[in-house]
Amino acid sequence: MKTTPKSLRLHIGLFGRTNVGKSSFLNMVAGQDVALTSPIPGTTTDVVEKTMELLPVGPVVFLDTGGVDDSSVLGKGRVSRTKRAVVRTDVAVLLLEANQWTPYEEEILSEFSAKKVPVIAVVNKADVAAPSADFLEMLRGRVRHVLTCSSAVFTGPERDRTVHTFKQALLDVCPDSLIAAPKLLGDLVPPGGMVVLIIPIDKEAPKGRLILPEVQALRDALDHGHVVAVTRETEYKALLARLNRPPDLVVCDSQVVDVMVAETPREVKCTTFSTLFARFKGDLARQVAGVAAVENLREGDKVLIAEACTHHAVEDDIGRVKIPRWLKKHLGFDLQVDVCSGRDYPDNLKDYKLIIHCGACMLTHREVLARIEKAASEGVPITNYGVCISYLLGVLDRVLEPFPEVLAMFRKESHDCAVKP
Ligand code: SF4
Repeated sequence: MKTTPKSLRLHIGLFGRTNVGKSSFLNMVAGQDVALTSPIPGTTTDVVEKTMELLPVGPVVFLDTGGVDDSSVLGKGRVSRTKRAVVRTDVAVLLLEANQWTPYEEEILSEFSAKKVPVIAVVNKADVAAPSADFLEMLRGRVRHVLTCSSAVFTGPERDRTVHTFKQALLDVCPDSLIAAPKLLGDLVPPGGMVVLIIPIDKEAPKGRLILPEVQALRDALDHGHVVAVTRETEYKALLARLNRPPDLVVCDSQVVDVMVAETPREVKCTTFSTLFARFKGDLARQVAGVAAVENLREGDKVLIAEACTHHAVEDDIGRVKIPRWLKKHLGFDLQVDVCSGRDYPDNLKDYKLIIHCGACMLTHREVLARIEKAASEGVPITNYGVCISYLLGVLDRVLEPFPEVLAMFRKESHDCAVKP
């Protein structure tokens, strides 16, 4: 990602009058000093560009502009450079001080409205002056997302919460084409390689068709020119025996992950549909990090099972029956398990100690990232069906082998936090 060219990065412009705290806001989001800050108005003498990997949004460039209201001689050049930054901006962040709405803010907002560029308003320096209710109402009437912060003084959880909220707002407004979208499976297999898909045909399998994650994985493999074999778990061993060389990748439904791991030759990479979708639609690293929270659960804790589609629950439903059963077996006690489905996602997540999300094949990448960010902003760990089931069945190490960076992170955290790999 470090090599993503600037032209493919989301350009986020920071605008506002001089000394409103644009640079300190950038430093807060970046988590490090990347821009000059000073209480002397106009310290940012040119547009400062900062490229970074802003997870979960992806590769971005921040354009830290000088103030647009600078009337000094030096300021005139700065204003013209700032105006050039307007043209390059995909999402504008308008920083302002509490209760100060002047022709400068009006001009910036009109300029971006005319260009149909989304704007996020940040009322900064709230420690110096708090915004009035009327001022916030006026802003919310004009801009979809309004944040209040004190970027120069926020630290710790206060800073983290604000950055999460900012990222959620970014995900909400930024164009789909500019959110980094990883591959489904094509990049995990060498050109012309062979993929085996293991699909159980059980009570949960819809009559006469495959479910979307299976169809999409099949299509992705074909799009990449890979050879694909599809089998039930009951015929998997026989299929392997008939191949004259081992497959390059095996993918199964999470419910039969233990069978797949037991029967797949050790040198062959294998994973689950749901784990592939955690990477494709969500954020695999964070959803793997989230599974550690299983070990912190206590009897009676609330866990949210989140499914992104509505389907008629069957007798041995994976979300409602199997995952709670595996959790109970692993932990030795009962939890309180709530289920939400389709577009429903609780406003208040704080009561939950863990969220276990399905592969979310029905949601966009942006929607899943927004759900992950919301969970993070409320301090609730979130994981994924495939990751959680593999963890509970003791095979997560193996299922993460196709993703070496995430596996390394999981092993390190397992070691540091005594999570069972
Ligand atoms: S939205 Fe979730 S539960 Fe529904 S088919 Fe896709 S992965 Fe499965």
